[in-house]
Amino acid sequence: MRDLSNELLDWYDVHARAMPWRVGPTDKKAGVRPDPYAVWMSEIMLQQTTVAAVTEYFKRFITRWPTVSDLAAAEDAEVMGEWAGLGYYARARNLLKCARAVVADHDGTFPADHAALLRLPGIGPYTAAAIASIAFDLRHVVVDGNVERVMARMFDEHTPLPASKPILTEHADRLTPQDRPGDHAQAVMDLGATICTPKSPACGICPWREPCQARAAGTAPELPKKTPKKAKPIRHGTVYLAQRNDGAWLVETRPDKGLLGGMMGWPGSEWVDTSEPRPRNAPLETDWIKLDGEVRHTFTHFHLILDVMVANVSNAEPERGFYLPRDQFRPSDLPTVMRKAFDLAQK
Ligand code: SF4
Repeated sequence: MRDLSNELLDWYDVHARAMPWRVGPTDKKAGVRPDPYAVWMSEIMLQQTTVAAVTEYFKRFITRWPTVSDLAAAEDAEVMGEWAGLGYYARARNLLKCARAVVADHDGTFPADHAALLRLPGIGPYTAAAIASIAFDLRHVVVDGNVERVMARMFDEHTPLPASKPILTEHADRLTPQDRPGDHAQAVMDLGATICTPKSPACGICPWREPCQARAAGTAPELPKKTPKKAKPIRHGTVYLAQRNDGAWLVETRPDKGLLGGMMGWPGSEWVDTSEPRPRNAPLETDWIKLDGEVRHTFTHFHLILDVMVANVSNAEPERGFYLPRDQFRPSDLPTVMRKAFDLAQK
């Protein structure tokens, strides 16, 4: 039987993508080992986010907090501010919790054990498998969207996702070798990201073109099949941007639980279904001006449309929130939806 993994690893040895958290095949052969802290951080950042979006954030985090102990000792607000714009903010809170657990329970060293990794905050089965495999070269099956696509095509699997996940995982498992499982996992991901791409796979230069069943059947571009998703509902709400005469902005820290938890934002209303009246709930009584235009933002489960109200205020005491002095206010500390409101107000 052909050794499909070896064929792929030969390709990976030449074509591996360079990433700031990755130890490439040449360095590995020279004895360099991956840093589990860097692998873990990249995997948390990459959940629901692309490599291109993560790269600059990763470099900033690693420069500012070079070890897990440095990160564990950071202030929550510093980390949340550095994460702003990357989205899915529960990840940032879990990042801190996990760093502190690694320091408190594992002497500042990530455990080289899948079950122990899984017990850490913010690490689910996929992330535990990825860290165990990539950082420690333990044989675990790593299946992300790229791997699912490659497996569906290699085995011409037409059952739609998500029902086909167990079948695709079995295929990925059978192909995972005992030797270099971490490189194998990264090689399949790279193949999916660079050659076996969603719309137009470059089968002509693929290291798996001969055994690939979908290429032979001419079905590659239509795989993997997916069960259609329900349309996302639309919600709406209002945010209030008040600036005091001395330049300070009225902001609030959002509750830890819930969307954008722990992030800085503008005081605002609930976000409600569009069938309900536009909610207001201003943080203080003043002459608010409603801006032309609106903020549109899409979260995982709904689209959001926000009215933006602005006001200049003297020293009015707000019912909620606090004034942040002008020299401490950094728009880059705002999550993207709040940043959009700020940008609209600057136009
Ligand atoms: S031959 Fe084509 S469809 Fe098959 S794995 Fe390679 S790029 Fe994907």
